[in-house]
Amino acid sequence: AGGVSLVKAGALTTCTHLPYAPFQAKDETGKVVGFDVELIDLVAKKLGVTQEIVDTPFEGIKSGSDLNAGKCDVAAAGMTITDERKQVLDFSDPYFDATQALAVLTGSSVKTLEELAGKRVGVQGGTTGEEYIKTQVEQKGLNIEVVSFRDLAAQQQALATNQVEAAVNDLPVWNEYIKNNPGKVVVAAGFDTGEQYGFAVKKGNAALLQAVNESLAAARSDGTYDRIYATWIGA
Ligand code: GLN
Repeated sequence: AGGVSLVKAGALTTCTHLPYAPFQAKDETGKVVGFDVELIDLVAKKLGVTQEIVDTPFEGIKSGSDLNAGKCDVAAAGMTITDERKQVLDFSDPYFDATQALAVLTGSSVKTLEELAGKRVGVQGGTTGEEYIKTQVEQKGLNIEVVSFRDLAAQQQALATNQVEAAVNDLPVWNEYIKNNPGKVVVAAGFDTGEQYGFAVKKGNAALLQAVNESLAAARSDGTYDRIYATWIGA
């Protein structure tokens, strides 16, 4: 781990945007836990430090401004690797595959975006899900009102209380919601966007990026990754 310099002595600081369960969210005791948290804990351990989590809006994470400002060393936010984001961040090797999914309240007959004509669809601001839906609405000329929420909790609350007819976000976060709120919502449709999540460091921070990638590779080869996957995502 020699050569890796961190913004705070003794700590690997991680920027994330809470909540985004099962990747990062507070448990009953207020501790931030999740899939991403465990993977970055491995990087911290490799560097001989502890992870400290900084909760910050997603916009500052994906734009690179938080990392550039030294707010944190690494970004871990269930964040999809995109060409646009690659311009401003250096991404690790992919660590998770995801798609987008349309969630509706149990009992809704909606199965397609087309059936949402004249209705409101909730998205999470700044995400790939928002971008996907906005593009679909534009390309297909759909009469859908896209409503952006500042975080996942606000989006899910809006769906649960019927402020929107449907909501789009990454499939694993809906699976987690359904697990924790049985019977409330169902996934009506999936959109195979072929997304991959990456951790990110400030552009040019090659030493830290290498430590992240080495840690990921080790976790994949010694079974730790599979154990973490089983804990947070399931079989
Ligand atoms: N994977 C999605 C994206 O990168 C959502 C991430 C998030 O909301 N934390 O845009």
